[in-house]
Amino acid sequence: MPLTTAPIDTPPVQGHTPHTWIDDNAVGTATPAAMLDPSAILDSLTGLPSRPWLPQRLQEMIDRSRDAESFGFAVLFIDVDRFRLVNESLGHGTGDLLLLEVAQRLRDHLQAPDAPAGATTAHSVVRFGGDEFVVILEDVSTVEMATAMAGDLLPVLARPYVLGAHTVHSSASIGIVHSRGQYHGAADLLRDADIAMYAAKARGRNCGVPFTPSMRDVVDQRVRLEHALRKAIGTDQFVLVYQPIVALEDHRVQSAEVLVRWQHPELGPISPGVFIPVAEETRLIIPLADDLLRRACIEFLRWRRDLGDRAPDYISVNLSRVQLADPAVAERTMGILRETGMPPECLQFEVTESQIMEHQTMALELLTEFKRHGIRLAMDDFGTGYSSLSCLQEYPFDVLKVDRALTENASRGRGYSALLHAVMTLADNLELDVVAEGIERVEQLVLLQALGCSHGQGYLLSRPLAADAFEAWMTQQAGSRDDAV
Ligand code: C2E
Ligand code: CA
Ligand code: CA
Repeated sequence: MPLTTAPIDTPPVQGHTPHTWIDDNAVGTATPAAMLDPSAILDSLTGLPSRPWLPQRLQEMIDRSRDAESFGFAVLFIDVDRFRLVNESLGHGTGDLLLLEVAQRLRDHLQAPDAPAGATTAHSVVRFGGDEFVVILEDVSTVEMATAMAGDLLPVLARPYVLGAHTVHSSASIGIVHSRGQYHGAADLLRDADIAMYAAKARGRNCGVPFTPSMRDVVDQRVRLEHALRKAIGTDQFVLVYQPIVALEDHRVQSAEVLVRWQHPELGPISPGVFIPVAEETRLIIPLADDLLRRACIEFLRWRRDLGDRAPDYISVNLSRVQLADPAVAERTMGILRETGMPPECLQFEVTESQIMEHQTMALELLTEFKRHGIRLAMDDFGTGYSSLSCLQEYPFDVLKVDRALTENASRGRGYSALLHAVMTLADNLELDVVAEGIERVEQLVLLQALGCSHGQGYLLSRPLAADAFEAWMTQQAGSRDDAV
C-alpha cells in the first residue's frame, strides 16, 4: 500500500444495509440517562456520549415537540464513507484516528467551544457505534433548515484527513429526520434517520438526504430480497442461460457467456442487475458463484460429449467484484475444475476494468494465477469506464469485450465508428480477440464486420438460451453451416 495522498478508491456504490431495529433493545429501552454509569455512557475512543445515552435524550426532545407546537428538532444519522476501506487497507490504528478526527470536526462545528462533551445546551453529538454518529439539532423549525445544516457539515467532513503518515480522503452520508411532534418513540425516529442515510449512500455518498415515508418501502423490499436470497442459495431457483459468442465471419460459435436467472416462486423473475448487488453486499455471491460455476462446467462437458468438436471452445463466466477480492477464490475454482473434470482452458472469466481498479494489486496477482493455471481472461464492458490502455497491457487478457453502449453508437456516425476502429486496432496490436456485445441490428453487424471485429454477441445473433435450448441451437447452427458449404 503506497503512502496515500491520492484518494482511496472504493467500489462505486457499495450498499449499506439499514440496521434491524425490531429487536434493538439498546434503542428501545429508554433508560434514564442520569441513572447510567457515566463511564458506560461516554465512548472510550472519542469521549463523545455513546449509544445508551440516546434514547432518553431523544425521548425528551420528542415529548417537548409534542407539548409545544413551535418546537421542532432534527436528527442527523451520519456514516463515514469508505471507513471500512481505510480500516482494512491502512489498519485499525489509522481507522481509529479517522474516527477521532471526525468526532472532533463534528464537535468543533456543532458545539460551543467550551461546552462539555455531550453538552445538552448546544447540539448533541453521539458516537452511535462503528463509523456512525448521531447528531441532535435542537430548535430547528423546518426540514429545510435541517437539510441546510447537514449541507454545511458535508464540506467539513470531506476535507482531507491527515492521519499519521497518511492523507486520507473521506466524506459522510447523512440521513436527516425532522420532527415536529409526529414521532412517539426514539426507536422509530432513529430507524427513519438510518433509512434516509441508506438513501444518501445509494445516491452516491457525500450528501444529506431527508427521510420520506416511501423510503420505508424500498428498505422493506431490500430486506425481503436478502431474506429470499439466503433461502434460495443451493436450490433450483437459480437457472443458468447461455448466450452464444459467434465469429462474425463464418458464424461459428466460439463460446457462450454464462448468465444467471433467478425465478422466485412468489416474487417471480428477478434480474441479475437487481440481486447480484445484494448477493455481493451480503457475500452470498461466493457460495452462489461456486454453485453456478460447478453447474456450468457440468453442462459444458455434456455439450462436448454430445456435440463433439461442434461444441463451443469454452464458456465465459462473469467474476464478481467480491470474488476478485477473495484470497481463496483461485483455490476453490481449481477445486471445482478438478472435481467436474473441466479443462481450465475451457473456462474464461470476465472482469470489468472498474473491478480491477478497486483492488489493483490483488487483482493482478489473482488474474496472473488464473492465467498460470490455463484459465482464459476477458475484459468485460470495455469502453464504459476508464478504458485505460495500460490496464489492457498489464493484465493477462485474451479477449476484449466491447460494451453494448459502444456497439449501439456504432451506426450513429463517423466519430463513433472511428472510435470502434481504434479499439479494433488496439486489440489487434495487443493480440486480443474482440467481442462486440449487444448487437441488435443488421447495420451494426455489417459495420462491425467492415471494421474487422472478429466476434459478436447480442440479440440479433441469439438471446441467452437455457442449456438444452443452447444445445439444440448449436446442432441447428452446425447443420446450416454444413449445408452452406
Ligand atoms: P454483462 O456481463 O454485460 O452481460 C451482458 C448482458 O447483456 C446480459 O444481461 C445479456 O442478457 C444482455 N444482452 C445480451 N445481448 C444483448 C442485446 O443485444 N441487447 C441488450 N439490450 N442486452 C443484451 P443480464 O443477463 O441481465 O445480465 C446483466 C449483468 O448481470 C451482466 O452484465 C453481468 O454483469 C451480471 N451477471 C449476470 N449473470 C451473472 C453471473 O452469473 N455472475 C455474475 N457475477 N454476474 C452476472
Ligand atoms: Ca459479462
Ligand atoms: Ca458486458
